[in-house]
Amino acid sequence: MDNSVKPYERRVRAISCAAVSLALIVAHVGSGLAQQKLKVVTTLPTYAAIAREITGDLAEVDAIARGDEDPHFVNPRPSFAARVGEADLFVVTGLDLELWVPAILDRARNRRVIEGAPGHVAAYSGIKLLEVPENVSRAGGDVHVFGNPHIHTDPINAIIIARNVLAHLRQVDPANAARYEQNARSFEDRVLRRLFGDRLVDILGGDVIFRLARNYQFWDFASDQSFEGRPLTEYVGGWLAQGAPFRDRRIACYHKNWAYFSARFRVECAIFIEPQPGIPPSPGHLQAVIDLMRDESIPVILAANYYSRSQVDRVAERTGARAVVVPEHVAGAEGVDDYFQLVDAWVSALADAFLALDRRREHRE
Ligand SMILES: [Zn+2]
Repeated sequence: MDNSVKPYERRVRAISCAAVSLALIVAHVGSGLAQQKLKVVTTLPTYAAIAREITGDLAEVDAIARGDEDPHFVNPRPSFAARVGEADLFVVTGLDLELWVPAILDRARNRRVIEGAPGHVAAYSGIKLLEVPENVSRAGGDVHVFGNPHIHTDPINAIIIARNVLAHLRQVDPANAARYEQNARSFEDRVLRRLFGDRLVDILGGDVIFRLARNYQFWDFASDQSFEGRPLTEYVGGWLAQGAPFRDRRIACYHKNWAYFSARFRVECAIFIEPQPGIPPSPGHLQAVIDLMRDESIPVILAANYYSRSQVDRVAERTGARAVVVPEHVAGAEGVDDYFQLVDAWVSALADAFLALDRRREHRE
């Protein structure tokens, strides 16, 4: 304490301190009211990452599953029912990927986010499903009976998922609709530019390129059309250009995680380590996979990082193939904190594997 301060000055200081404290308390209470943030809960961390792109700082967004766990077989902690109980928005694939969700929704007792409510987002809505079986059956243990549910592996689907999130945010928080719409437009533009490169998006425009891509007509269109005397394919940039080393190549995959990625990037999973989605391989099946990979010179195995690494490595060892093990979801590995980093991780890991193979072959020739 400064002893040179006269008593009345001390009093003035004390009063002004009290005033400042009161102002702080008022500000705090005020911001508490103003910052009643929207609560968004998603099943998978990739949906959380996409939702965050749309909400910005207007919501608290949490995922139930971790990024490095198998989304089919999540064991949710009881605390998640409480989180879903408070949620304004709940995002789930909407197919049969997260069979662990109905139990959480039952326990959460939150009418605002049950199926059919404005706060319930089915991420798959509007996505052209691949691998839809002719008959719905879990015979043999298949865990994909409505079609392939790993929709987020195609960046075009990420745009559709974002649009679904936006449509429901508009309903549950109309006051902030304009901000959500602006964020969604920005996300779409960034995804298209990362996927196709700036030049092609500038030439065709976002709407046209999205429509072509969504209908899987992009490559036919780009091969037929030219711009300033050069075929449009020569303007392809972004992830698709980066994926050229693995385009039209065949790979082995652990699980049917990659159907949408395959279709977008034109890389075929020619064989699967699992005999059926969700069923671990028997020694006999594993041997059949190894034989086929050798016979057909399939050079790469792609697996999500929650599958048995030792099994993947064993197949790689016995076939001479390269193992590419990647996170399937955001937060599934260090440095994979948003959707762009996730697709970067897939594309660069696969491209690096094929570039290394091609270099080895050149070296031998
Ligand atoms: Zn699956």
